[in-house]
Amino acid sequence: MKQGKVIIISAPSGCGKSTIIKALRERGNIDMGFSVSATNREPRPGEKDGEHYYFLTTEQFREAIDRGDFVEYEEVYPGRYYGTLRSEIDRITGEGHNVVLDIDVKGGERVKKLMGDRAISLFILPPSVDELRRRLEGRGTDAPDVIDQRVGRAEFELSFAPRYDCRVVNDDLQEAVDNAERILKEFVDAE
Ligand code: ADP
Ligand code: 5GP
Repeated sequence: MKQGKVIIISAPSGCGKSTIIKALRERGNIDMGFSVSATNREPRPGEKDGEHYYFLTTEQFREAIDRGDFVEYEEVYPGRYYGTLRSEIDRITGEGHNVVLDIDVKGGERVKKLMGDRAISLFILPPSVDELRRRLEGRGTDAPDVIDQRVGRAEFELSFAPRYDCRVVNDDLQEAVDNAERILKEFVDAE
């Protein structure tokens, strides 16, 4: 069976990664399973364990590191760890499906290096940093200090955009999903 390919999607928090990935999966034109990462952050209202993330305690996250469970992991915010599980990638690509990873810029670079031509990296850009803040505020899931932290990190993350294989600006959502779909479909359909 043909092994699935790896789709890496990164962007500063609030740029619309989750929204775009959800829309792409709902449209169903590209076969892709979502790799559920592990994190030690608290679940947001509505987030389910095993669906959005595997929510671990810091102790459990450390144990997973020691067991070598992660392809990569990062401390994306101080004390907040996120990691891509080897078992998720193997399970999804082993069944012949492509896999999509919603991961931060450092993790994205690491996985791209590891996977080479088997992976494509896509960066989602916000129309502006001001709009990014408005979206985080509008999402209403993070406290003001957390929003400040996320906007503060955005500039660092945006500096990685030129190093990704391709970029899509998420201004009009439908247009962004169309553009992402076109780019990713071409990649997964290529031999
Ligand atoms: P991320 O996964 O990158 O952190 P989300 O997908 O949660 O970002 O999006 C952040 C907020 O912005 C959400 O409330 C979402 O509904 C909203 N949003 C996403 N894309 C757009 C867009 N093109 N225009 C306006 N709001 C958007
Ligand atoms: P959030 O807390 O908003 O869900 O995610 C915060 C950041 O962590 C986002 O940039 C997201 O892409 C990143 N992230 C989620 N899972 C992983 C992962 O497994 N590895 C890495 N390196 N980053 C991740």
